[in-house]
Amino acid sequence: MQTETAPPVNFIRQIVEEDLKSGKHQTVVTRFPPEPNGYLHIGHAKSIWLNFSLAQAFGGVCHLRMDDTNPLKEDAQYVESIKRDVQWLGFDWGTREFHAADYFQDFFDCAVKLIKLGRAYVCDLSADEVREYRGTLTEPGRPSPWRDRSVEENLDLFLGMRDGQFEDGSRTLRAKIDMASPNINLRDPAIYRIRKAHHHRAGDAWCIYPMYDYAHCISDSLEGITHSICTLEFENHRPLYDWFLDTLQLPVHPQQIEFSKLKLQYTMLGKRKLREMVTSGLVSGWDDPRMPTIAGIRRRGYTPESIRDLCEKVGVTKSEVWTELSYLAECLRHDLNTKAYRVMGVLRPLKVVLTNYPEGQIEELDAAYFPEDVGLHGSRKVPFGRELYIEQDDFMEDPPKKYFRLQPGGEVRLRRAYIIKCQEVIKDSQGRVVEVRCSYDPDTRSGSPGEHRKVKGTIHWVEASTSVPAEVRLFEELFTLEQPDNLKDGDYRDFINPNSLVVLPDSRLERSLAHSKVGERFQFERQGYFIKDQDSTVDKPVFNRIVPLKDGWAKLLQKQ
Ligand code: ATP
Ligand code: MG
Repeated sequence: MQTETAPPVNFIRQIVEEDLKSGKHQTVVTRFPPEPNGYLHIGHAKSIWLNFSLAQAFGGVCHLRMDDTNPLKEDAQYVESIKRDVQWLGFDWGTREFHAADYFQDFFDCAVKLIKLGRAYVCDLSADEVREYRGTLTEPGRPSPWRDRSVEENLDLFLGMRDGQFEDGSRTLRAKIDMASPNINLRDPAIYRIRKAHHHRAGDAWCIYPMYDYAHCISDSLEGITHSICTLEFENHRPLYDWFLDTLQLPVHPQQIEFSKLKLQYTMLGKRKLREMVTSGLVSGWDDPRMPTIAGIRRRGYTPESIRDLCEKVGVTKSEVWTELSYLAECLRHDLNTKAYRVMGVLRPLKVVLTNYPEGQIEELDAAYFPEDVGLHGSRKVPFGRELYIEQDDFMEDPPKKYFRLQPGGEVRLRRAYIIKCQEVIKDSQGRVVEVRCSYDPDTRSGSPGEHRKVKGTIHWVEASTSVPAEVRLFEELFTLEQPDNLKDGDYRDFINPNSLVVLPDSRLERSLAHSKVGERFQFERQGYFIKDQDSTVDKPVFNRIVPLKDGWAKLLQKQ
């Protein structure tokens, strides 16, 4: 994908620009390094966008690297979902797909080198003891009793670890740095641990696995990464990143640069919690349209363009901000405005009978697919007849002042058709309105001389006999909490929005939607943008609302 406009200036782009100008680098190589232990979410989209678009902007390349060094949490199914998601976002790693697991021998060789340099040792402390020896933010740590083993003994034990001679958790290999360092990450961090576990890619070749901080910098170096971009929580790990590369004297030393994570209001990111939501049945799956996973937002109908646009608008900084959902909604509307056909769908139908319209007659009205200001063409025929459906809330028997839609004795224009007047209201035995009888004014058809007769309200409708029965699913935020990720006390499950999913099983759509395809997006006039969902059957399409035309709920909550 080629970006049409130059990406906005940000501090990372400036660093890269200077590195190219000064000759520190001749080219730019970045990477997106997901751990295949879950599905990607919209936060990852920011990292994907940043790494790929930065490389593109300078004619460089971006690697896709599976950071798959933990056999207990990772799985091949996630690798496939990650690749699909990156592609969907519009980015292409070409042949540059890498796996940290393919560097297991390199990691091992580097560890041997550290031992020989006297900069790593095998430690027999248990996990609890290591924690106890580590000290706190205010107190220095204490050296492990195993810290001064000889190089020979360390080599011997480390080979024994590799050869499966010791139990899980009984020993670790640790870097020998500084137990008194004010940066806890430098207090002899673990490099390797014993895990007699099958790896989805490396099989049973290894029973020791490297730790993230150690494996990550070496992977970056081996791949010739120039700028290793990560999120702010790794800032305190940077000295360790540099220590490993300096001590090992690897020929390539990438620069680690941190930026702040994308955070969205009313949205929880974080793979662990998302997995919990899926396995506990709180949502219907990783691709539940309310989920912030890329699989979820794709199914919800969000477009890759709108996500990239959001990333660009939010920008790249070091400050933690919670992005308002209305930003995302605006990016979506902006994109869909020039893509989605305008059609009519009635979500909660109320029957209207035009008593002066000939029985059995259907006329075909012209209806353009786009408003004039969009500048796109195309139209279809919309059938009109004696029996119609309108929205239940476009009729009120006892309306307040300034209600300009249908009411007893009142007139309203049917979009693209005629003006009708309410003559009679039919109720069921419980007093609910089940039908409205109206007359229509034949002189007011769209395009006829009477078209310009003014009435205050215009409503959408569908012709009853040709309309398509459909299920429509409406969504709101999954959480009622503005910053669910920041919840200190309590359980996020207590803050689920009961209206996050509303299913309308009896909606009616105009005839033209009978032939729509799964994945096609439309604007249902006055109701928002919708996408045809994969749950659709031949008899009954299912539509997800992507976004309403205006912000309702989210804005209201913010104003409270
Ligand atoms: P999570 O915190 O959601 O579990 P993670 O950081 O464990 O995600 P990784 O697979 O390790 O997931 O992340 C891959 C890359 O995506 C990393 O470079 C990480 O910094 C970046 N990333 C993760 N979350 C965000 C976010 N909210 N905004 C921007 N980048 C993110
Ligand atoms: Mg991670």
